[in-house]
Amino acid sequence: MQIERRLPRIAVQGLTGCAGELLVILENLGSVLPFVQVASFPFAQSKNDLSDIDIAFVEGSVSQKHDIDSIKEIRARSKWLVAVGNCAVHGCVQSSTCSRYKAKELVEAVYAKDSPIEALDAKPLSSYVNVDVELSGCPIDKNQFLAVLASLLKDHLPYIIDRPVCLECKMRENGCVLIEKNLPCLGPVTAAGCGALCPSFEAACYGCFGPCKDPQLNAMATVLSEKGYNLSDILVRLGTFGIPEQVLSNLDVKR
Ligand code: SF4
Ligand code: SF4
Repeated sequence: MQIERRLPRIAVQGLTGCAGELLVILENLGSVLPFVQVASFPFAQSKNDLSDIDIAFVEGSVSQKHDIDSIKEIRARSKWLVAVGNCAVHGCVQSSTCSRYKAKELVEAVYAKDSPIEALDAKPLSSYVNVDVELSGCPIDKNQFLAVLASLLKDHLPYIIDRPVCLECKMRENGCVLIEKNLPCLGPVTAAGCGALCPSFEAACYGCFGPCKDPQLNAMATVLSEKGYNLSDILVRLGTFGIPEQVLSNLDVKR
């Protein structure tokens, strides 16, 4: 008698975000389809079942009341929960905007006064549930996604590089646009993972993978200030992809 093997069940869910990670995953899922069952992926298929999930990939921040219910349900039904993309990992643009304006004011400015949208101050998934793996990027890198999936399919927590972009930049033997061209490159404080994409085309890194581990923000801000960038440029650059406002307000740069 032949025993049918159960394929690992994966879910790909979106909360409040731009669907960038969902697209990256959709484009790259083909190569792993023989090894998994896509139990739920509302962005890509109409029949979805969130029961008994082995690995859930979740994009977007928790920005609306129903996002809280969704992420708690996904967590309860999944063995491994992976936050994909800067919104899910750091809150990203939504969180940084909510640190300057009230969510209610933003909804009223964009939608009609009696809008049914119940907006909250945007927060990352880890503010509400336990997250097993955080994969940053805006959007994520496809090779990192496939490596995380391969690792979790073997029941191992993946290794995710926690060094700055400068490491990958040097490994590619790029010239440094911060030193040689005075471009405001945020590679020294940004998490690696993209393969130093922008500096490889002689453009400055603008921080889209979010902060690296222990980012040396004061040193970064001082260097940018010495190169003639003003405080508001520096704060906007550093704050957009996940460095909290309260950290930025303590930066030791000339005001
Ligand atoms: S170009 Fe940017 S990422 Fe590359 S070494 Fe210089 S500062 Fe670092
Ligand atoms: S170099 Fe910086 S801005 Fe460019 S893709 Fe990588 S992390 Fe994003």
